[in-house]
Amino acid sequence: MEKMKLLIFDMDGVIYRGNSPLPGAKETLEALRRQGKFIAFLTNNSTMTRFQYRRKLAHMGIKASVKEIFTSAWGTALFLKEKNLKRAFVIGEEGLKKELRWAGIEVVSLPDIDVDCVVVGLDRKFTYKKLCYAFKAVRKGAQFIATNKDWTFPLENEIVPGGGAIVSALQFALNQEPILIGKPSLFLLELVIKHFKVSKGETVIVGDRLDTDIEMGLRAGIKTVLVLTGVTTEEELSNSTFKPDAIVKNIGELLQIEWLK
Ligand SMILES: [Mg+2]
Repeated sequence: MEKMKLLIFDMDGVIYRGNSPLPGAKETLEALRRQGKFIAFLTNNSTMTRFQYRRKLAHMGIKASVKEIFTSAWGTALFLKEKNLKRAFVIGEEGLKKELRWAGIEVVSLPDIDVDCVVVGLDRKFTYKKLCYAFKAVRKGAQFIATNKDWTFPLENEIVPGGGAIVSALQFALNQEPILIGKPSLFLLELVIKHFKVSKGETVIVGDRLDTDIEMGLRAGIKTVLVLTGVTTEEELSNSTFKPDAIVKNIGELLQIEWLK
């Protein structure tokens, strides 16, 4: 078997829940770095910029460079640029809007819906009015783009609706599938692998969601590890057709996996 060189970590439910780091996260990442492994952080969560994620990790004692952080917000900005979509109506938070602006995309405010695309991510100030305008913009010809379709995400002591819940509202009204940037789409994964110049056989994905992290790995033919500190219960795991290559109770157990050494 090929030696594993790159580990791609999901963050919510793997490294932390809310603002609390999960057991063993810091120590495990440090040990992997000492072994000379490449580390990447890949999140579907579009609410913060890469710089904010770096700061969040630093608060937990986890060192990361911005170049190791890949988010659906950043990926969406890259995608829009690639497709020459210059004006966007955004249902999402400031982190997403910032990443788009940094890429040279014009983020418009209500009631302007004369746009090239509608971008939807988690928006904790989501309103029916925003839904109406997004709906009108797409019906007028704008592309419908989802940063992610996560149903839920885990906080310290509870699980709350994710960006996918908001995407679904618009998808249902339009009866139209969005273009998906986040996992399980391979768009971000290909960028990560290209950045580190490794092969798929040398890469491992570590995540807590079966329908994003694990499914993306299966689609790409990349090895996967499921951690049980996030949204997936053992019962869901046994009922799922997505089978990870390894299952660990928490990220701290990762170093015990023989084929990862
Ligand atoms: Mg997660």
